[in-house]
Amino acid sequence: MTTERTQTTENGNGSSRGEIHVAYKVDIVVIGAGQAGLSSAYHLMRLGLKPGRNFLLLDKSEQAGGAWQYRWPSLTLSTVNRIHDLPGMQFAEIIDPGVTEVKASVVVPRYYEAYERKFQLPVYRPVTVKVVCERNGRFRVETDRETFSVRGLINATGTWETPSIPTYPGQELFKGRQLHARDYRTADEFAGKHVVVVGGGISALQLLDEISRVTSTTWVTRREPRFRDAPFTPEDGRAAVATVEDRVRRGLVPGSVVSVTGIPWTPALKAARERGVLNRLPMFSEITETGVRWPDGTERQADVILWATGFRSSLDHLAPLQIREDDGGIVMTGRLATQVARDPRVHLVGYGPSASTIGANRAGAAAARELSAYLGLA
Ligand code: FAD
Repeated sequence: MTTERTQTTENGNGSSRGEIHVAYKVDIVVIGAGQAGLSSAYHLMRLGLKPGRNFLLLDKSEQAGGAWQYRWPSLTLSTVNRIHDLPGMQFAEIIDPGVTEVKASVVVPRYYEAYERKFQLPVYRPVTVKVVCERNGRFRVETDRETFSVRGLINATGTWETPSIPTYPGQELFKGRQLHARDYRTADEFAGKHVVVVGGGISALQLLDEISRVTSTTWVTRREPRFRDAPFTPEDGRAAVATVEDRVRRGLVPGSVVSVTGIPWTPALKAARERGVLNRLPMFSEITETGVRWPDGTERQADVILWATGFRSSLDHLAPLQIREDDGGIVMTGRLATQVARDPRVHLVGYGPSASTIGANRAGAAAARELSAYLGLA
Protein backbone atom coordinates (compact mmCIF):
# COMPACT_ATOMS: atom_id res chain seq x y z
CA MET A 1 0.00 0.00 0.00
CA THR A 2 1.19 3.50 -0.73
CA THR A 3 -0.35 6.64 0.63
CA GLU A 4 -1.99 9.52 -1.17
CA ARG A 5 -2.01 12.90 0.54
CA THR A 6 -4.51 15.48 -0.56
CA GLN A 7 -4.72 19.03 0.68
CA THR A 8 -8.33 20.06 1.15
CA THR A 9 -8.88 23.74 0.61
CA GLU A 10 -12.63 23.82 0.41
CA ASN A 11 -15.40 21.41 1.14
CA GLY A 12 -18.50 23.46 0.69
CA ASN A 13 -19.09 24.35 4.33
CA GLY A 14 -15.53 25.39 4.99
CA SER A 15 -15.17 23.20 8.07
CA SER A 16 -12.19 21.21 6.82
CA ARG A 17 -10.44 24.04 4.98
CA GLY A 18 -6.71 23.42 5.00
CA GLU A 19 -6.89 19.81 6.32
CA ILE A 20 -4.56 17.18 4.93
CA HIS A 21 -6.20 13.84 4.14
CA VAL A 22 -4.10 10.73 3.94
CA ALA A 23 -5.59 7.88 1.95
CA TYR A 24 -3.97 4.48 1.57
CA LYS A 25 -3.67 3.62 -2.09
CA VAL A 26 -4.48 0.13 -3.26
CA ASP A 27 -5.94 -1.19 -6.51
CA ILE A 28 -8.95 -3.12 -5.22
CA VAL A 29 -10.79 -3.14 -1.94
CA VAL A 30 -13.08 -6.03 -1.11
CA ILE A 31 -15.68 -4.85 1.39
CA GLY A 32 -16.85 -7.71 3.60
CA ALA A 33 -15.14 -10.98 4.50
CA GLY A 34 -18.00 -13.46 4.47
CA GLN A 35 -18.31 -16.24 1.91
CA ALA A 36 -18.53 -13.73 -0.96
CA GLY A 37 -15.56 -11.59 0.09
CA LEU A 38 -13.33 -14.55 0.91
CA SER A 39 -14.08 -16.26 -2.37
CA SER A 40 -13.33 -13.03 -4.27
CA ALA A 41 -10.05 -12.57 -2.40
CA TYR A 42 -9.00 -16.16 -3.04
CA HIS A 43 -9.49 -15.67 -6.77
CA LEU A 44 -7.69 -12.31 -6.79
CA MET A 45 -4.71 -14.11 -5.26
CA ARG A 46 -4.93 -16.91 -7.79
CA LEU A 47 -4.77 -14.30 -10.54
CA GLY A 48 -1.44 -13.18 -9.15
CA LEU A 49 -2.58 -9.99 -7.42
CA LYS A 50 -0.48 -9.14 -4.38
CA PRO A 51 -2.25 -9.03 -1.02
CA GLY A 52 -1.87 -5.63 0.60
CA ARG A 53 -0.44 -3.99 -2.53
CA ASN A 54 -3.07 -4.84 -5.16
CA PHE A 55 -5.98 -5.72 -2.91
CA LEU A 56 -7.20 -6.01 0.64
CA LEU A 57 -10.38 -6.85 2.51
CA LEU A 58 -12.16 -4.70 5.07
CA ASP A 59 -14.62 -6.22 7.50
CA LYS A 60 -16.57 -4.57 10.26
CA SER A 61 -16.83 -7.63 12.52
CA GLU A 62 -14.37 -8.25 15.34
CA GLN A 63 -13.67 -11.77 14.16
CA ALA A 64 -13.90 -14.03 11.12
CA GLY A 65 -17.21 -15.66 10.22
CA GLY A 66 -19.23 -13.20 8.15
CA ALA A 67 -22.85 -13.08 9.27
CA TRP A 68 -22.71 -16.72 10.32
CA GLN A 69 -21.20 -15.73 13.65
CA TYR A 70 -24.45 -13.94 14.56
CA ARG A 71 -26.95 -16.65 13.58
CA TRP A 72 -29.33 -17.95 16.25
CA PRO A 73 -27.99 -20.93 18.25
CA SER A 74 -30.50 -23.50 16.95
CA LEU A 75 -29.16 -23.04 13.41
CA THR A 76 -26.85 -26.01 13.21
CA LEU A 77 -25.16 -27.80 10.35
CA SER A 78 -28.18 -30.11 10.29
CA THR A 79 -30.75 -27.28 10.04
CA VAL A 80 -29.02 -24.98 7.54
CA ASN A 81 -29.85 -25.57 3.88
CA ARG A 82 -26.25 -26.29 3.00
CA ILE A 83 -23.01 -24.44 3.42
CA HIS A 84 -20.75 -24.98 0.44
CA ASP A 85 -17.00 -25.25 0.80
CA LEU A 86 -15.04 -22.15 -0.10
CA PRO A 87 -12.69 -22.63 -3.07
CA GLY A 88 -9.43 -24.34 -2.19
CA MET A 89 -10.28 -25.68 1.28
CA GLN A 90 -12.84 -28.18 2.44
CA PHE A 91 -15.01 -27.72 5.48
CA ALA A 92 -13.96 -31.25 6.36
CA GLU A 93 -10.48 -29.92 7.13
CA ILE A 94 -11.80 -28.42 10.34
CA ILE A 95 -14.73 -30.67 11.22
CA ASP A 96 -15.61 -34.31 10.66
CA PRO A 97 -18.33 -34.40 7.94
CA GLY A 98 -20.43 -36.71 10.16
CA VAL A 99 -20.77 -34.05 12.86
CA THR A 100 -23.92 -32.06 12.16
CA GLU A 101 -25.25 -31.11 15.60
CA VAL A 102 -22.92 -28.19 15.90
CA LYS A 103 -23.89 -24.53 15.83
CA ALA A 104 -23.29 -22.80 12.51
CA SER A 105 -22.39 -19.68 14.52
CA VAL A 106 -19.44 -21.54 16.00
CA VAL A 107 -18.20 -23.79 13.26
CA VAL A 108 -18.46 -21.49 10.21
CA PRO A 109 -16.37 -18.74 11.86
CA ARG A 110 -13.80 -21.39 12.73
CA TYR A 111 -13.73 -22.48 9.08
CA TYR A 112 -13.45 -18.93 7.74
CA GLU A 113 -10.70 -18.14 10.23
CA ALA A 114 -8.72 -21.20 9.14
CA TYR A 115 -9.32 -20.20 5.52
CA GLU A 116 -8.01 -16.68 6.02
CA ARG A 117 -4.96 -18.13 7.74
CA LYS A 118 -4.32 -20.81 5.13
CA PHE A 119 -4.31 -18.35 2.24
CA GLN A 120 -2.92 -15.44 4.28
CA LEU A 121 -5.70 -13.20 3.13
CA PRO A 122 -5.19 -9.54 4.04
CA VAL A 123 -8.33 -8.95 6.10
CA TYR A 124 -8.41 -5.75 8.12
CA ARG A 125 -10.92 -5.79 10.98
CA PRO A 126 -12.81 -4.38 12.64
CA VAL A 127 -13.07 -1.71 9.96
CA THR A 128 -16.50 -0.37 9.01
CA VAL A 129 -16.85 1.21 5.60
CA LYS A 130 -18.96 4.30 6.14
CA VAL A 131 -19.18 5.66 2.62
CA VAL A 132 -17.63 5.26 -0.82
CA CYS A 133 -17.44 8.21 -3.19
CA GLU A 134 -15.74 9.03 -6.43
CA ARG A 135 -12.67 11.26 -6.31
CA ASN A 136 -10.40 12.08 -9.28
CA GLY A 137 -11.24 8.93 -11.20
CA ARG A 138 -10.69 6.70 -8.15
CA PHE A 139 -12.92 5.62 -5.29
CA ARG A 140 -12.47 7.08 -1.88
CA VAL A 141 -13.41 4.45 0.71
CA GLU A 142 -14.02 6.14 4.04
CA THR A 143 -14.04 3.91 7.10
CA ASP A 144 -14.25 4.38 10.84
CA ARG A 145 -10.47 4.13 10.76
CA GLU A 146 -8.32 4.81 7.68
CA THR A 147 -9.38 6.11 4.29
CA PHE A 148 -8.51 4.16 1.15
CA SER A 149 -8.12 5.40 -2.39
CA VAL A 150 -8.85 2.54 -4.80
CA ARG A 151 -9.40 1.85 -8.49
CA GLY A 152 -11.97 -0.92 -8.17
CA LEU A 153 -14.41 -2.30 -5.64
CA ILE A 154 -15.79 -5.72 -4.86
CA ASN A 155 -18.66 -5.20 -2.50
CA ALA A 156 -19.54 -8.27 -0.47
CA THR A 157 -21.40 -6.87 2.51
CA GLY A 158 -24.29 -9.36 2.56
CA THR A 159 -27.66 -8.54 4.05
CA TRP A 160 -27.40 -9.14 7.80
CA GLU A 161 -26.83 -5.45 8.60
CA THR A 162 -30.12 -4.43 7.00
CA PRO A 163 -33.05 -6.42 8.38
CA SER A 164 -36.30 -5.60 6.69
CA ILE A 165 -39.43 -4.83 8.73
CA PRO A 166 -42.56 -3.63 6.93
CA THR A 167 -44.53 -0.82 8.49
CA TYR A 168 -48.12 -1.21 9.67
CA PRO A 169 -50.44 1.31 11.25
CA GLY A 170 -50.27 1.27 15.03
CA GLN A 171 -46.84 -0.38 15.16
CA GLU A 172 -45.54 2.15 17.65
CA LEU A 173 -48.52 1.60 19.99
CA PHE A 174 -47.81 -2.06 20.64
CA LYS A 175 -47.00 -2.61 24.33
CA GLY A 176 -45.47 -6.04 23.83
CA ARG A 177 -42.13 -6.88 22.30
CA GLN A 178 -41.31 -6.62 18.61
CA LEU A 179 -38.14 -8.14 17.26
CA HIS A 180 -36.66 -9.14 13.95
CA ALA A 181 -35.48 -12.72 13.40
CA ARG A 182 -31.94 -11.32 13.41
CA ASP A 183 -32.30 -10.75 17.17
CA TYR A 184 -33.90 -14.10 17.94
CA ARG A 185 -31.88 -16.28 20.29
CA THR A 186 -33.98 -19.08 21.78
CA ALA A 187 -37.65 -20.04 21.94
CA ASP A 188 -37.53 -20.41 25.73
CA GLU A 189 -37.63 -16.69 26.31
CA PHE A 190 -41.16 -16.66 24.86
CA ALA A 191 -42.62 -19.41 27.07
CA GLY A 192 -46.07 -18.45 28.34
CA LYS A 193 -46.43 -15.62 25.81
CA HIS A 194 -48.48 -15.52 22.64
CA VAL A 195 -46.19 -14.95 19.66
CA VAL A 196 -47.25 -13.70 16.23
CA VAL A 197 -44.71 -14.89 13.68
CA VAL A 198 -44.70 -12.81 10.49
CA GLY A 199 -43.12 -14.18 7.32
CA GLY A 200 -43.31 -17.00 4.81
CA GLY A 201 -39.63 -17.85 4.32
CA ILE A 202 -37.53 -20.72 5.57
CA SER A 203 -36.34 -18.79 8.63
CA ALA A 204 -39.90 -17.85 9.57
CA LEU A 205 -40.94 -21.47 9.43
CA GLN A 206 -37.95 -22.70 11.41
CA LEU A 207 -38.62 -20.18 14.16
CA LEU A 208 -42.37 -20.83 14.12
CA ASP A 209 -41.66 -24.52 14.54
CA GLU A 210 -39.33 -23.93 17.49
CA ILE A 211 -41.46 -21.36 19.27
CA SER A 212 -44.67 -23.36 18.83
CA ARG A 213 -43.10 -26.17 20.85
CA VAL A 214 -42.95 -23.97 23.96
CA THR A 215 -45.88 -21.60 23.59
CA SER A 216 -48.91 -20.56 21.50
CA THR A 217 -48.37 -18.93 18.12
CA THR A 218 -50.16 -17.20 15.26
CA TRP A 219 -48.57 -17.35 11.82
CA VAL A 220 -49.23 -14.66 9.23
CA THR A 221 -47.82 -14.15 5.77
CA ARG A 222 -48.50 -11.70 2.98
CA ARG A 223 -48.77 -14.38 0.33
CA GLU A 224 -49.84 -17.99 0.51
CA PRO A 225 -46.56 -19.88 1.08
CA ARG A 226 -45.56 -22.24 -1.69
CA PHE A 227 -44.56 -25.58 -0.20
CA ARG A 228 -42.87 -28.13 -2.39
CA ASP A 229 -43.17 -31.87 -2.04
CA ALA A 230 -40.36 -32.77 -4.39
CA PRO A 231 -36.79 -32.38 -3.19
CA PHE A 232 -34.86 -29.37 -4.43
CA THR A 233 -32.71 -30.68 -7.28
CA PRO A 234 -29.61 -29.05 -8.82
CA GLU A 235 -31.81 -28.25 -11.87
CA ASP A 236 -34.25 -26.43 -9.57
CA GLY A 237 -31.31 -24.54 -8.11
CA ARG A 238 -30.09 -23.50 -11.54
CA ALA A 239 -33.58 -22.42 -12.56
CA ALA A 240 -33.97 -20.33 -9.40
CA VAL A 241 -30.60 -18.65 -9.96
CA ALA A 242 -31.48 -17.99 -13.63
CA THR A 243 -34.73 -16.30 -12.57
CA VAL A 244 -32.97 -13.98 -10.15
CA GLU A 245 -30.14 -13.33 -12.59
CA ASP A 246 -32.64 -12.33 -15.23
CA ARG A 247 -34.25 -9.91 -12.77
CA VAL A 248 -31.02 -8.14 -11.84
CA ARG A 249 -29.86 -7.94 -15.46
CA ARG A 250 -33.08 -6.03 -16.10
CA GLY A 251 -32.35 -3.79 -13.11
CA LEU A 252 -35.14 -5.17 -10.94
CA VAL A 253 -34.73 -5.72 -7.21
CA PRO A 254 -33.69 -9.36 -6.75
CA GLY A 255 -36.74 -10.52 -4.73
CA SER A 256 -36.75 -13.06 -1.92
CA VAL A 257 -35.09 -16.45 -2.27
CA VAL A 258 -38.25 -18.24 -1.27
CA SER A 259 -40.22 -16.57 -4.03
CA VAL A 260 -38.21 -18.59 -6.51
CA THR A 261 -37.37 -21.76 -4.59
CA GLY A 262 -40.51 -22.57 -2.58
CA ILE A 263 -40.29 -24.23 0.85
CA PRO A 264 -39.37 -27.89 1.02
CA TRP A 265 -41.39 -30.14 3.34
CA THR A 266 -38.71 -31.12 5.84
CA PRO A 267 -39.52 -33.73 8.54
CA ALA A 268 -39.62 -30.88 11.10
CA LEU A 269 -42.18 -28.96 9.02
CA LYS A 270 -44.29 -32.06 8.48
CA ALA A 271 -44.31 -32.58 12.24
CA ALA A 272 -45.28 -28.94 12.75
CA ARG A 273 -48.15 -29.44 10.31
CA GLU A 274 -49.27 -32.49 12.32
CA ARG A 275 -49.25 -30.36 15.48
CA GLY A 276 -51.58 -27.89 13.72
CA VAL A 277 -49.05 -25.08 13.82
CA LEU A 278 -49.05 -24.22 10.13
CA ASN A 279 -52.47 -22.61 10.06
CA ARG A 280 -51.43 -19.63 8.08
CA LEU A 281 -53.46 -16.42 8.30
CA PRO A 282 -53.31 -13.53 5.84
CA MET A 283 -51.46 -10.43 6.91
CA PHE A 284 -53.13 -8.26 9.55
CA SER A 285 -53.84 -4.67 8.62
CA GLU A 286 -53.14 -2.96 11.92
CA ILE A 287 -51.24 -3.31 15.16
CA THR A 288 -52.95 -2.33 18.38
CA GLU A 289 -51.63 -1.78 21.91
CA THR A 290 -52.29 -5.40 22.74
CA GLY A 291 -52.12 -7.35 19.50
CA VAL A 292 -53.01 -7.34 15.85
CA ARG A 293 -56.20 -6.65 13.89
CA TRP A 294 -57.41 -7.78 10.46
CA PRO A 295 -59.50 -5.68 8.04
CA ASP A 296 -62.73 -7.45 9.09
CA GLY A 297 -62.16 -6.31 12.71
CA THR A 298 -60.97 -9.67 14.03
CA GLU A 299 -58.33 -9.17 16.69
CA ARG A 300 -55.74 -11.39 18.28
CA GLN A 301 -54.01 -10.57 21.54
CA ALA A 302 -50.24 -10.98 21.41
CA ASP A 303 -47.23 -10.47 23.67
CA VAL A 304 -44.62 -10.70 20.95
CA ILE A 305 -44.46 -9.93 17.22
CA LEU A 306 -41.55 -11.67 15.57
CA TRP A 307 -40.75 -10.18 12.18
CA ALA A 308 -39.14 -12.97 10.16
CA THR A 309 -39.47 -10.73 7.14
CA GLY A 310 -36.05 -11.08 5.62
CA PHE A 311 -33.27 -8.70 4.79
CA ARG A 312 -32.27 -6.32 2.05
CA SER A 313 -28.80 -5.92 0.59
CA SER A 314 -26.50 -3.82 2.76
CA LEU A 315 -25.42 -1.27 0.18
CA ASP A 316 -26.14 2.08 1.81
CA HIS A 317 -22.43 3.01 1.97
CA LEU A 318 -22.39 2.99 -1.87
CA ALA A 319 -25.18 5.61 -2.15
CA PRO A 320 -22.93 8.43 -3.47
CA LEU A 321 -22.00 6.23 -6.45
CA GLN A 322 -25.62 6.38 -7.63
CA ILE A 323 -25.70 2.83 -8.92
CA ARG A 324 -29.43 2.40 -8.29
CA GLU A 325 -32.24 3.01 -10.74
CA ASP A 326 -35.19 5.14 -9.66
CA ASP A 327 -37.13 2.11 -8.40
CA GLY A 328 -34.20 0.92 -6.25
CA GLY A 329 -32.94 -1.85 -8.54
CA ILE A 330 -29.41 -2.03 -9.91
CA VAL A 331 -28.73 -3.02 -13.53
CA MET A 332 -26.16 -5.80 -13.38
CA THR A 333 -24.00 -7.14 -16.17
CA GLY A 334 -20.93 -9.35 -16.68
CA ARG A 335 -20.64 -13.11 -16.98
CA LEU A 336 -22.45 -13.87 -13.72
CA ALA A 337 -24.14 -10.50 -13.33
CA THR A 338 -21.75 -9.25 -10.66
CA GLN A 339 -20.74 -6.07 -12.50
CA VAL A 340 -22.66 -2.86 -12.02
CA ALA A 341 -23.66 -1.64 -15.48
CA ARG A 342 -23.49 2.01 -14.47
CA ASP A 343 -19.91 1.62 -13.25
CA PRO A 344 -17.90 -1.40 -14.42
CA ARG A 345 -15.31 -0.81 -11.69
CA VAL A 346 -17.87 -1.93 -9.10
CA HIS A 347 -18.81 -5.56 -8.57
CA LEU A 348 -21.45 -6.83 -6.17
CA VAL A 349 -20.86 -10.37 -4.96
CA GLY A 350 -23.41 -12.09 -2.74
CA TYR A 351 -26.09 -9.92 -4.34
CA GLY A 352 -29.07 -11.29 -6.29
CA PRO A 353 -28.22 -14.59 -8.00
CA SER A 354 -25.08 -15.01 -5.88
CA ALA A 355 -26.79 -14.64 -2.49
CA SER A 356 -25.96 -18.17 -1.40
CA THR A 357 -22.74 -19.86 -0.38
CA ILE A 358 -22.40 -21.63 -3.73
CA GLY A 359 -23.43 -18.54 -5.67
CA ALA A 360 -20.92 -16.42 -3.77
CA ASN A 361 -18.15 -18.87 -4.63
CA ARG A 362 -18.82 -18.67 -8.35
CA ALA A 363 -19.49 -14.95 -8.37
CA GLY A 364 -16.26 -14.28 -6.47
CA ALA A 365 -14.32 -15.99 -9.26
CA ALA A 366 -16.13 -14.05 -11.99
CA ALA A 367 -15.79 -10.69 -10.23
CA ALA A 368 -12.09 -11.18 -9.49
CA ARG A 369 -11.37 -12.10 -13.09
CA GLU A 370 -13.45 -9.37 -14.71
CA LEU A 371 -12.39 -6.57 -12.40
CA SER A 372 -8.68 -7.33 -12.52
CA ALA A 373 -8.86 -7.58 -16.33
CA TYR A 374 -10.78 -4.30 -16.54
CA LEU A 375 -8.15 -2.57 -14.41
CA GLY A 376 -5.32 -4.17 -16.40
CA LEU A 377 -4.01 -6.05 -13.38
CA ALA A 378 -4.22 -9.59 -14.72
P1 FAD B 1 -22.13 -12.17 4.98
O1 FAD B 1 -21.84 -13.51 5.52
O2 FAD B 1 -23.22 -11.38 5.62
O3 FAD B 1 -20.78 -11.32 5.07
C1 FAD B 1 -20.78 -9.95 4.89
C2 FAD B 1 -19.60 -9.38 5.64
O4 FAD B 1 -19.54 -7.99 5.35
C3 FAD B 1 -19.72 -9.50 7.14
O5 FAD B 1 -18.57 -10.12 7.66
C4 FAD B 1 -19.86 -8.07 7.64
O6 FAD B 1 -19.17 -7.85 8.85
C5 FAD B 1 -19.24 -7.29 6.51
N1 FAD B 1 -19.78 -5.94 6.35
C6 FAD B 1 -21.08 -5.58 6.18
N2 FAD B 1 -21.18 -4.25 6.05
C7 FAD B 1 -19.91 -3.77 6.12
C8 FAD B 1 -19.35 -2.45 6.06
N3 FAD B 1 -20.10 -1.35 5.85
N4 FAD B 1 -18.00 -2.31 6.21
C9 FAD B 1 -17.21 -3.40 6.39
N5 FAD B 1 -17.70 -4.67 6.46
C10 FAD B 1 -19.03 -4.83 6.32
N6 FAD B 1 -26.94 -19.66 2.25
C11 FAD B 1 -26.57 -20.92 1.92
O7 FAD B 1 -25.93 -21.14 0.89
N7 FAD B 1 -26.91 -21.97 2.73
C12 FAD B 1 -27.59 -21.79 3.89
O8 FAD B 1 -27.86 -22.76 4.59
C13 FAD B 1 -27.99 -20.48 4.26
N8 FAD B 1 -28.66 -20.25 5.41
C14 FAD B 1 -28.99 -18.96 5.76
C15 FAD B 1 -29.67 -18.75 6.95
C16 FAD B 1 -30.04 -17.46 7.33
C17 FAD B 1 -30.76 -17.24 8.62
C18 FAD B 1 -29.72 -16.37 6.47
C19 FAD B 1 -30.12 -14.96 6.85
C20 FAD B 1 -29.05 -16.57 5.29
C21 FAD B 1 -28.68 -17.88 4.90
N9 FAD B 1 -27.98 -18.12 3.72
C22 FAD B 1 -27.63 -19.40 3.38
C23 FAD B 1 -27.63 -17.02 2.85
C24 FAD B 1 -26.24 -16.59 3.33
O9 FAD B 1 -26.37 -15.42 4.01
C25 FAD B 1 -25.25 -16.57 2.20
O10 FAD B 1 -25.26 -17.77 1.59
C26 FAD B 1 -23.80 -16.25 2.55
O11 FAD B 1 -23.28 -16.85 3.68
C27 FAD B 1 -23.71 -14.78 2.63
O12 FAD B 1 -22.35 -14.48 2.47
P2 FAD B 1 -21.92 -13.01 2.19
O13 FAD B 1 -20.43 -13.04 2.19
O14 FAD B 1 -22.61 -12.47 1.02
O15 FAD B 1 -22.47 -12.16 3.44
